[in-house]
Amino acid sequence: MNTDPACIFCKIIAGEMPATMVAEDEVTIAFMDINPVNEGHLLVVPREHHQSIASIPGSVLSHMALIARWLTAALRASLVRTEGVNLYLADGAAAGQEVPHAHLHVIPRWRGDGIRISVGRPATPTREQLEEMAAQIRAAAID
Ligand code: AMP
Ligand code: ZN
Repeated sequence: MNTDPACIFCKIIAGEMPATMVAEDEVTIAFMDINPVNEGHLLVVPREHHQSIASIPGSVLSHMALIARWLTAALRASLVRTEGVNLYLADGAAAGQEVPHAHLHVIPRWRGDGIRISVGRPATPTREQLEEMAAQIRAAAID
């Protein structure tokens, strides 16, 4: 299994660093974010070290999604204030990834919590521009 001895999340998985665990199985671990965006903020982390989701095997990525779904339901049923949930994944430093071990954030939300994930939309492209962009992405897509 891929691991990186310098990686914080690999150290947590190896039991070399503390974390407040919520769930563990053979594929993923889920623990409390140490610097939460909102109370109850969780991270779903694959045991295998992959910097980008691009290299995570499909079965592992699907498992992460299933665990995130299960934790979303748990949060909604729990005493943690949860009127909604954001799932968030930053792939690459330019997208805000700080820990280079791909992981999924599960963030409880409630009306008026003050968190803003929305961004401005600088321009509305024409249909032609959308078609051109879609063609470029399709041309680069690997099965
Ligand atoms: P990202 O920007 O998507 O890479 O998110 C990294 C997340 O990991 C941040 O929300 C951090 O607060 C969280 N984090 C970093 N170190 C730890 C740690 N030792 N235990 C728990 N969460 C951590
Ligand atoms: Zn790692």
